[in-house]
Amino acid sequence: MGKKVTVVVSLRPAEFIHEIVLSGLKMNRRDFIQSALAGALLPAAPLSPPEWYDRPMRWAQLAFVEDDPGNYDQAFWLDYFTRVHADAACLSAGGCVAFYPTKIPLHYRSRWLRNSDTFGDLVRGCRELGMNVIARTDPHAVHQDVYAAHPDWIAVDATGKKRKHWADPDLWVTCALGPYNFDFMTKVTEEIVTLYKVDGIFSNRWAGSGMCYCEHCRQNFKDFAQMDLPRTNDPQNAARRTYMVWHQQRLFELWRLWDAKIKAINPNAAYLANAGGGALSELDMSIIGQLAPTLFADRQARHGVNPPWTNGKNAKEYRATMGHKSIAGIFSVGLEEDYRWKDSVQSADEIRLWVADGIAQGLRPWFTKFNAKPIDRRWLPVVAELYQWHFDNSRYLRNEEPLANIAMVYSQQTAAFYGAEKAHTKVEDHALGFYHALVEARIPF
Ligand SMILES: [Zn+2]
Repeated sequence: MGKKVTVVVSLRPAEFIHEIVLSGLKMNRRDFIQSALAGALLPAAPLSPPEWYDRPMRWAQLAFVEDDPGNYDQAFWLDYFTRVHADAACLSAGGCVAFYPTKIPLHYRSRWLRNSDTFGDLVRGCRELGMNVIARTDPHAVHQDVYAAHPDWIAVDATGKKRKHWADPDLWVTCALGPYNFDFMTKVTEEIVTLYKVDGIFSNRWAGSGMCYCEHCRQNFKDFAQMDLPRTNDPQNAARRTYMVWHQQRLFELWRLWDAKIKAINPNAAYLANAGGGALSELDMSIIGQLAPTLFADRQARHGVNPPWTNGKNAKEYRATMGHKSIAGIFSVGLEEDYRWKDSVQSADEIRLWVADGIAQGLRPWFTKFNAKPIDRRWLPVVAELYQWHFDNSRYLRNEEPLANIAMVYSQQTAAFYGAEKAHTKVEDHALGFYHALVEARIPF
């Protein structure tokens, strides 16, 4: 008879205890300790418990740039994560650029990676701090070798031309609805979860970059609708209306596929789409509310004439379909204007204002830093101060109930079918006016 051995691994003693029960082991206590010390028994990364999604209160994201491997200071970031009480991390793993030694053909590795495992090393460091870790993938673009091997994976514009990337002339834009995502990125997702047992995969720009007329989209739409892809954005057009249904179905099919593949490897992990929003969101928020165990609003900073309350508005919109599930607000520390530059740093008050408005409406803060070699460090103490305040007041920031008796309704159907290409002026502007009036009148809603 084998013994039942219970190992209690304390990831963060104050908040929860993570138990791993190993049964049927034929070993005594001494053997067990020795093998555990040798790393032979315990998995390198113990799985987070099921439904870990509500645990993290403060997120940290490092979005690597290609030359980060070997050139950035990992210890600096782990120290910063500790100091700011970050309890979850989102780290760049693969897709457009891989930051780990992938074995998948055509999965482009950072040219600075050499024999190292930049992603894996930081995952381990974060785990040792008791953080939850999710991996970021970015499937929206590929290099020339992918184009050469699978030209059909590249997005095609209305004139039939394959699409070059708008910002990087070395890259091609991918089709989100064909085999690049459904086959290739599924393999990438499985490899990352298998190797690192991460708590989830967070995909950036996974839903495509506008209308695609590639051979797969043309054929798949024809099979679905017995029509050609629409050439107009007019929702009164029958093909366009049908396309809106098909496009959404296809993306939710991809969401469910990735989630199932992830759960087959790590049942306590999930696909965490970078998706969602208010009236102008292209995916049905009620379906997202059912599928997503947690959701992150990717509105990194103000731009143009956005009022300061725009960040909190995301929280209210998410809350409408996410109920009490945890939601986080991704904020950047740089300028998000037309001259968007990820190494820039906004004023301290601008960062404070944006983050505080999100927190006030229920978003848990998530800072994102592109380029792990910080040039301008003025934001570091500002975020540390915000996170320290958040940590000190955490007990007031859970299990809240709204006190409002007033609600604002948003309708994705109105935006899609009435507003269409003019949804900003025909739908959103009016909603923003009501929103502002309620804020000014200090009426909770
Ligand atoms: Zn396509």
